[in-house]
Amino acid sequence: MVGCCHRGSATNEPPRPPSSLPAGFLGDALELGTDRLTIVAHPVAAACCCLSCDEPSIRVHSHYQRRLLDLPSHGRIVELQLLGRRFRCRTAAGVRRTFVEPLPLPVGQRFGQRTSRLDGLVQHLGLVLGGRSGAGAD
Ligand SMILES: [Zn+2]
Repeated sequence: MVGCCHRGSATNEPPRPPSSLPAGFLGDALELGTDRLTIVAHPVAAACCCLSCDEPSIRVHSHYQRRLLDLPSHGRIVELQLLGRRFRCRTAAGVRRTFVEPLPLPVGQRFGQRTSRLDGLVQHLGLVLGGRSGAGAD
């Protein structure tokens, strides 16, 4: 059985300590700048299950880079540069011929530019400040 990107071995991993590196990804590089920490990583799973027919596929159609901002660390912006993959569906009768490998849910949304936890912090701050941008700057 081939482990899929959003199921299988990735979800069976033991709990990990909080980290900016998402589960199911392997780090390639860390770039430390004066105001930014960039983490470059790629997915470990060889296969991904089609979002329509649920059949696993190992046929990668193309690659792209996803950039997500994560919670800041020690005063630095944390940016994730994750290798994204588009797979070909193995079933010819399927509605989709290709599909994008989803990110693990705690990491981010499909079209998001922030991780879920940074998004949650931004929403919380928005609620606390009552939608008053720049509040407290007085
Ligand atoms: Zn399919």
